[in-house]
Amino acid sequence: MTKTVLVTGGSGYIAGFTIRQLLAEGWTVHATVRSLAKEPVLRQLLGGTAETLKVFAADLTSDAGWEAAVAGCSHVAHVASPFSTNAPKHEDDLIVPAREGVLRALRFARDAGVVRFVQTSSVAAIAYGHGKGVHRFTEKDWTDVNGPDVYAYVKSKTIAERAARDWIAVEGGAMEFVSVNPSAVLGPVWNDDFSASIEVVKQLLSGALPGCPDIGFGIVDVRDVADLHVRALTAPGIAGERFIAAGPFLKLIDVARILKERLPQQSRKVPTRGLPDWLVRFSALFNPMIRQITGELGNIRDASADHAFVVLGWKTRPPEDSIVDCARSLIERGVVKV
Ligand code: NAP
Repeated sequence: MTKTVLVTGGSGYIAGFTIRQLLAEGWTVHATVRSLAKEPVLRQLLGGTAETLKVFAADLTSDAGWEAAVAGCSHVAHVASPFSTNAPKHEDDLIVPAREGVLRALRFARDAGVVRFVQTSSVAAIAYGHGKGVHRFTEKDWTDVNGPDVYAYVKSKTIAERAARDWIAVEGGAMEFVSVNPSAVLGPVWNDDFSASIEVVKQLLSGALPGCPDIGFGIVDVRDVADLHVRALTAPGIAGERFIAAGPFLKLIDVARILKERLPQQSRKVPTRGLPDWLVRFSALFNPMIRQITGELGNIRDASADHAFVVLGWKTRPPEDSIVDCARSLIERGVVKV
């Protein structure tokens, strides 16, 4: 029997790759977008037919459209959440849609008889507020939202996952809940409306950075994150679990060196010098985007994906491939001039 899944935020980077894999594996997919104006492009990118891919308008902040979107679905991948490189005017601009959105999706899913609900959370809900230094996190860890390094996006992801788990415990009934917690997602981009995580490679390639601040990320490929979502939707006996979807932790300067090594012709503007912490802090006085990363300086927030490897048989490709494929696609699309 064909299985039907609702994927929220269908216009997004991770959701797009997840939908493509689900369609390839024979699922019928319902996808939500904020605006149906995105539907034609989405259909072009994702494939599927009018029968296998149905697109619905639904916003995280309103009940309109959700009942129709989830009708007939046995599974939900709730991927949508506000994600931007720009610091919001107020933290609630991110927290409220993230929290209210997941609670709304949960409620409509339970009422429609959904059996498994997968939330795209984040390593942001795990690895912050634990003090500076070197850490290796597992699914047992939770971000302390009162920590000094916690900025609006981190708070929004932590509060949204906590709220979802609290709701499930009381209201969820027979519906199973699982979260997938990715680190920084890279890989090929397929349109110019790409995720905030891609900015790292874009900024390096375009020469926008005079040097590399002492920050880093666990780098994971979008194709592998999509694959983990599909496994989390289907694997038996994992109700309530969290799965970190992280790759190896690399400093920005390591990402820069990989670009130089693997794409020497296209990496002329990529800086390979470090940027001193004092200069980053000074720039942060004038730039709210940089202000968000000053808490990252010197930290190693490594997160272990062993649980997904062992329980779900998940595999990841080397981060070098994700970085290079990301760079190549940005160049091919003319997003950066190198
Ligand atoms: P993305 O391409 O920016 O996708 C975000 C999606 O959320 C978009 O489809 C966006 O719709 C939707 N969205 C935002 N606000 C909404 C609202 N009020 N109502 C309805 N939809 C809304 O970024 P992504 O990387 O694929 O992120 C997807 C999920 O993964 C997010 O939950 C994010 O927190 C999580 N995540 C991402 C990373 C990463 O490094 N990329 C790492 C960990 C977790 P529009 O197209 O209409 O804007």
